[in-house]
Amino acid sequence: MLKWNDVIRYASQGNPKPDRRVEKSEEEWERILSPEEFRITRQKGTERAYSSELCNLFEPGKYACICCDTLLFDSLEKFQSGTGWPSFTQPIKENAVAYHKDVSYGMYRIEANCNTCDAHLGHVFQDGPMPSGLRYCINAVSLKKVKDDSLKATFGGGCFWCTEAIFQELKGVIKVESGYSGGKVEHPTYREVTTGTTGHAEVIDVTYNPSEITFEDLLKIHLSTHNPTTPNRQGADRGSQYRSVIFYRTEEEKEIALKVISELQPSFDDMIVTEVAMFEHFYKAEDYHQNYYKSNPNGGYCQGVINPKLEKFRKLYKEKLVK
Ligand SMILES: [Zn+2]
Repeated sequence: MLKWNDVIRYASQGNPKPDRRVEKSEEEWERILSPEEFRITRQKGTERAYSSELCNLFEPGKYACICCDTLLFDSLEKFQSGTGWPSFTQPIKENAVAYHKDVSYGMYRIEANCNTCDAHLGHVFQDGPMPSGLRYCINAVSLKKVKDDSLKATFGGGCFWCTEAIFQELKGVIKVESGYSGGKVEHPTYREVTTGTTGHAEVIDVTYNPSEITFEDLLKIHLSTHNPTTPNRQGADRGSQYRSVIFYRTEEEKEIALKVISELQPSFDDMIVTEVAMFEHFYKAEDYHQNYYKSNPNGGYCQGVINPKLEKFRKLYKEKLVK
């Protein structure tokens, strides 16, 4: 989750790389966009407060850039700010939005742009609701509501700090959350899961765009970036919470999981012990477990355990990474 210090850091030291870039001349944008869309997105305009019904729209869905269709926000992060502009607490993905210092009109503000095409969206302020404390104040004209065709995949392969770091780097992956699944205890805490008695495994819940990456791709990457042959154990981490597991949501996904396991078996000396189980529920882990690798790059576990895994993964799947 991005917080104010991340926003400031991006605005002063440079923004994260977008998944792709869309670049057009001003004349081309002018041809494609309506005059109002052009004024706001390409000339840093601001729409009149309360001018859009989008302010009061909270039904589920996602919002994309009006210029380049890149997904920017999820309605789950939308809130009623009372300002007259659609307001969000987080972008859909860390690299979706770019930040720049804006000192126009005698104010010191952080401008929010589409990181893919540089469209002006609005500004970010630090007076939003917790836990992020951010308020993305966005022109409704810069956004369009889109049909949500993303899918979810949930699997475990040892400590979720590792698996999360790997899947965050893949093209077509919209979001990765760390959490617990496969057990019987409702709303488990990390401490409870650590005891190994809740039945839960440490897992990641991946939201992905199936037209860019498939369930089969995700499983192949999963099985080749952890050791699926050690029961209830991943390296030095021992306990059933570290078991290798794939959760399926449909019969088709179950078949794909079994097929991928049998296809990859010959590349292992030992038998693959990955559990294939029906998905029941995902419990998101505590905030300090989210985005762990990126938040603690110099930590001992990140340097000693995650870095070597990431290096191996980046070599293996070069063409599938976010550029
Ligand atoms: Zn854009």
